Amino acid sequence: MKNLHTIAQKPDLSRRDSFKSIGLFMLALTTQGKSAHTSEKAMKQFRVVIIGGGIGGASAAKYLRILNPHVQITVVEPNPEYIFCPGSNEIFPGWCSIKDLTVTYNILKQRYNTQVIKDFAQHIDYDRKMLSLAKGGTLFYDKLIVSPGPTFDYAGIEGYSKDLADTHFPAAWHVSPQTLLLKQQIKSLKQGGTLCISIPDTPYRCPPAPYERATFIAHMLKKNNPAAKVLILDSQKDFIFDNIYPYYWEKHFSFGKSDAILERIGPEDGGHIVKLDASAKTLIGQNGQKFKGDVLNIIPPHKAAKFAFDNHLVQDQWCPVEYKDYTSLKQKDVYIIGDTILGDPMPKTGYIASNQARVAVQAINDELHGRSPGTPFMVNDCIAMVEQGFGMTLSEIFRYAGKNKPLEARHYIPGVDKNGFQQKMLGSEARAWQENFKRSVFS
Ligand SMILES: Cc1cc2nc3c(=O)[nH]c(=O)nc-3n(C[C@H](O)[C@H](O)[C@H](O)COP(=O)(O)OP(=O)(O)OC[C@H]3O[C@@H](n4cnc5c(N)ncnc54)[C@H](O)[C@@H]3O)c2cc1C
Repeated sequence: MKNLHTIAQKPDLSRRDSFKSIGLFMLALTTQGKSAHTSEKAMKQFRVVIIGGGIGGASAAKYLRILNPHVQITVVEPNPEYIFCPGSNEIFPGWCSIKDLTVTYNILKQRYNTQVIKDFAQHIDYDRKMLSLAKGGTLFYDKLIVSPGPTFDYAGIEGYSKDLADTHFPAAWHVSPQTLLLKQQIKSLKQGGTLCISIPDTPYRCPPAPYERATFIAHMLKKNNPAAKVLILDSQKDFIFDNIYPYYWEKHFSFGKSDAILERIGPEDGGHIVKLDASAKTLIGQNGQKFKGDVLNIIPPHKAAKFAFDNHLVQDQWCPVEYKDYTSLKQKDVYIIGDTILGDPMPKTGYIASNQARVAVQAINDELHGRSPGTPFMVNDCIAMVEQGFGMTLSEIFRYAGKNKPLEARHYIPGVDKNGFQQKMLGSEARAWQENFKRSVFS
């Protein structure tokens, strides 16, 4: 707490320090062109409103404050606390609890001098630059950052609904009572029963997380219910870490054999699920194939947030943005980040959402200082586990290639190190990553 007030109150936070904090994650190297530098007095009147206090929104508030000690920053978020999804699969085997993944907004408020309003953002009046809140309040903005996450489109699977997810067939794709319901269902799965995990078409948040979850659950069943089975019903033909998961599954779960504890059905064999027959506890693939389960963990397809649809920020299910600075292609002075934008080829991860936030706030701060934003490139460091002593990693870089052009992407996934050393090291790195990442956003 010693430096609690330094950042918020010290107006002379040097640019060098600011860049040091932000520069690990993104580069904005060149500045061309000039517009007017905003005076300190005017900056104090400058209002940045952020919708959503999740990974994208909280990162935007924190890193904007690091860059600029003057502007007014307000976050609108309905929940009093935020629960991290990264690491949340570990709730199932009991390696962590919901409490371990929960953070408050206290540091954002105090250290980063951010106003946090507990409410839902509802309507944007773009002409008046005014945001209406669900409880009746209004906020005026100069720049608006939108990071409300995705909508889980339960109705995208015929027969499925949020009510059914809350009561019988949990998605548990953000941490909520559905997570605890699924945990309970895994524990009470009948001996020799089947648990199905259905994976939607991309894009969905955190591509490796369903396979990680399936593996954790298979371990739990192997120990307590060895005749049971995990059935992955997959909309993807090729899947992330397919150079590692099958190797591990073969070794531990007889994957590919008749007595396998874990099986995967790809889209060519009906794994792309389009319908739920709730009374028969059966999932139905696009060519009519039927998969009956005792527990159904149905991850629904995703699309942009309802808020984004309601406020005309969406095109073809997702919010289109200019990747140089994450400005909306549909509305002026609006920046959109995180899982609600299409983002392709970037995956929907917290790491990416947080880096997008840093690019957006850098652009806002550059504008205030009369500079044009530089050319960003984005990094995604993705780490997944199959057990505590076995991790895997993926490194990706996305480079801005010009207006209306797709981002240039490069990625590297090291394969399995058969003597196990690398995977062991990556297992402990994965756990350290989660803690560090949480701190990079909320501390
Ligand atoms: C099981 C699982 C594991 C994952 N593991 C990882 C991982 O290891 N690494 C990684 O990088 N990512 C991981 N992710 C993905 C990561 O959680 C998301 O990509 C990230 O949270 C996206 O950030 P966001 O800001 O777009 O959305 P969120 O973090 O979901 O935040 C959105 C916020 O907006 C608020 N909101 C919504 N509507 C409104 C409104 N109208 N007004 C005001 N506020 C609103 C919500 O309450 C929420 O707090 C995982 C996801 C899952 C499901």
